[in-house]
Amino acid sequence: MSGHTIFALASGGARAGVAVIRLSGPGAAAALTALAPGKPLADPRRAVLRALRDPATGEVLDQALVLFFPGPGSFTGEDVAEFHLHGGPAVVEGVLAALGQVAGLRPAEAGEFTRRAFLNGKLDLTQAEAIADLVAAETSEQRRQALDQAAGALGQIYEGWRARLIAAIAHVEAGIDFADEDLPEDIDRAARDALAALAGEIAAHLDDGRRGERLRAGVHLALLGRPNAGKSTLLNLLAGRDAAIVSETAGTTRDVIEVHLDLGGVPVIVADTAGLRDSADAVEREGVRRAAARADWADLKLIVLDRADWPDVPADLRALAADGRALVLVNKADLAPVETVEDLGPAPVLALSARTGAGVEVFLSVLTAKVRDLAVAGAGASAAPTRARHRHALEEARTALAAALDGWSTRGPELVAEDLRLAARAIGRITGRVDVEDLLDVIFAEFCIGK
Ligand code: GDP
Repeated sequence: MSGHTIFALASGGARAGVAVIRLSGPGAAAALTALAPGKPLADPRRAVLRALRDPATGEVLDQALVLFFPGPGSFTGEDVAEFHLHGGPAVVEGVLAALGQVAGLRPAEAGEFTRRAFLNGKLDLTQAEAIADLVAAETSEQRRQALDQAAGALGQIYEGWRARLIAAIAHVEAGIDFADEDLPEDIDRAARDALAALAGEIAAHLDDGRRGERLRAGVHLALLGRPNAGKSTLLNLLAGRDAAIVSETAGTTRDVIEVHLDLGGVPVIVADTAGLRDSADAVEREGVRRAAARADWADLKLIVLDRADWPDVPADLRALAADGRALVLVNKADLAPVETVEDLGPAPVLALSARTGAGVEVFLSVLTAKVRDLAVAGAGASAAPTRARHRHALEEARTALAAALDGWSTRGPELVAEDLRLAARAIGRITGRVDVEDLLDVIFAEFCIGK
């Protein structure tokens, strides 16, 4: 596929027991021989121990395990080699420098191994994205989602939809080419019904509450409330470390401080915001402005009340709790018992003490359940879109498909076929398979119209 053989340290920069250098391309086998002269090439996929030498000086650089994966049955589809070295920086540098001297080799660019795997048809674009997600995964649910997607869970859905669209295009185009021989009406109705069902599946897939995207990017949580309500104390308790400044003076949390947490396998980004109140101090006012903006787009708002503000909750805080994205915490319950704990509109209310930890376990279990509900689909649910890119393409496909269905019997087959082609292309862009015309040939060959 590509003339150059690429190489890179695959195991990251940190000093470790073992470092892995990976090579891919037509020169992979020659590079192995260049660094281990006089030794036979390792049997495919069998690890062998080799003394690696600098090809210019003959100096031994390391005793390393060497593997060879002949194409096309390799990750990239090309010949691939791996050196499993001792992980010290001098060893890694020495072997990288030695490889740089071998003709036809060059350092890989970011993502280039996976890019070659895609170009060689070893995986589709959703699987390539999933490999990046798997490497970035920090929580168990992120790992699960990335692994499913890497196995093709998402790509298969889209490829199935695209195949159905292409079958429909074939049907409509047959109507164009053989207009004088009228296709039977029930065939036409079946084709239209099948597309209506597909439109329903796409709509249901899009209507997932953005769970997949949230799980990938993290659920955003905003801590809101009056200065001194105990937001920073609560955040520190959540984070298990001193992440925000806790102070006796009101208005010290002036910027938005973020802490990343793992709640029930879901990544959560908690933002501690400046206390919401009118302030004469310009810097603090800016902090309050940012807090309000944060509240607007947070997935979940934690409204922290000093127990003195319960149950007569100030109107601005009451308003923040009104939209179903809030959880109200009545803090400092250690100072005096919190009387009746009832919901504030749609927002559940919990009493706790960030200082003593009383009530925090219950709060964490409620919060974890909410966060999982936002980011994790129920058992048995099919794979969800994980990037805005998927969503945009699906919306484009949905619009084009709706236009095709609306104009099915009025707009003429040429325009209907064109809308269907737009829908198929939009979905094909998600997986990177856009060879609509090729598939059309296959389907036309099988499409019986009685000739
Ligand atoms: P913030 O301005 O909302 O971030 O409030 P802080 O977390 O800085 O807390 C303000 C003050 O309230 C500090 O002196 C905290 O120690 C105190 N505080 C926070 N939570 C509690 C609590 O549950 N009980 C009591 N008694 N004091 C608390």
